[in-house]
Amino acid sequence: MAKTRRQKATEISGTFTDITQLISPDMSVYPGEPQPKFEPLYTMEKDKVNVTKLTLGSHTGTHIDAPRHFLPGGDGIDRVPLCNFIGIAAILDMSRTGGEITGADLDAYSALVRPGDILLLYTGASGRQFGTDFSYLEPSAAQWAVDRGIKCIGIDSPSVEKYGSKKALRTRNCCPYNIGIIENLNSNLKEFAGRRMFLVCLPLFLEGVDAAPSRAILFDMLQ
Ligand SMILES: [Zn+2]
Repeated sequence: MAKTRRQKATEISGTFTDITQLISPDMSVYPGEPQPKFEPLYTMEKDKVNVTKLTLGSHTGTHIDAPRHFLPGGDGIDRVPLCNFIGIAAILDMSRTGGEITGADLDAYSALVRPGDILLLYTGASGRQFGTDFSYLEPSAAQWAVDRGIKCIGIDSPSVEKYGSKKALRTRNCCPYNIGIIENLNSNLKEFAGRRMFLVCLPLFLEGVDAAPSRAILFDMLQ
């Protein structure tokens, strides 16, 4: 049986906020990826039940990337350690960096972030239709996260990397350190900027797939 890492207990309140994007046929998707499709397979009228056939890309809406997305033969989403996506999150407002997020931008939040944290970055991309000019991490920001022992980076833009980038920031900076990646969080993140909260974000359990839509919930912490 797989061993799971035990974390120190943290008390969380019953108050929570959903920071997941709603998946719908007309939602904004990453340029070049398919719009979600919901088609009736069985209907109440004909079959006495409703069953829907879903068609969607693995990176649709709020989702977790698996190493297989960028590493040949890398682990699929069914093998990512869930402990990277459950824990205390520092929420940072990066909406005024002008696109690229650097280590120097993250430095402004040094006092808020502790080793082992999840970083959640609000960039403002979640409030807009996606183009190709969304905010992204420069390698210095990924290195900043590595140096501080960050276990996961979540962002409200469609990718942690610049559109069309061939720098493979994840391969060089995130993957060797097993840093989890969550993309496309929703704009509710904005109201919690500057706070520490408890995140639970769990991917669909899809065998060998390179990413999976995920539900992300932020809880208030009591201590
Ligand atoms: Zn992705």
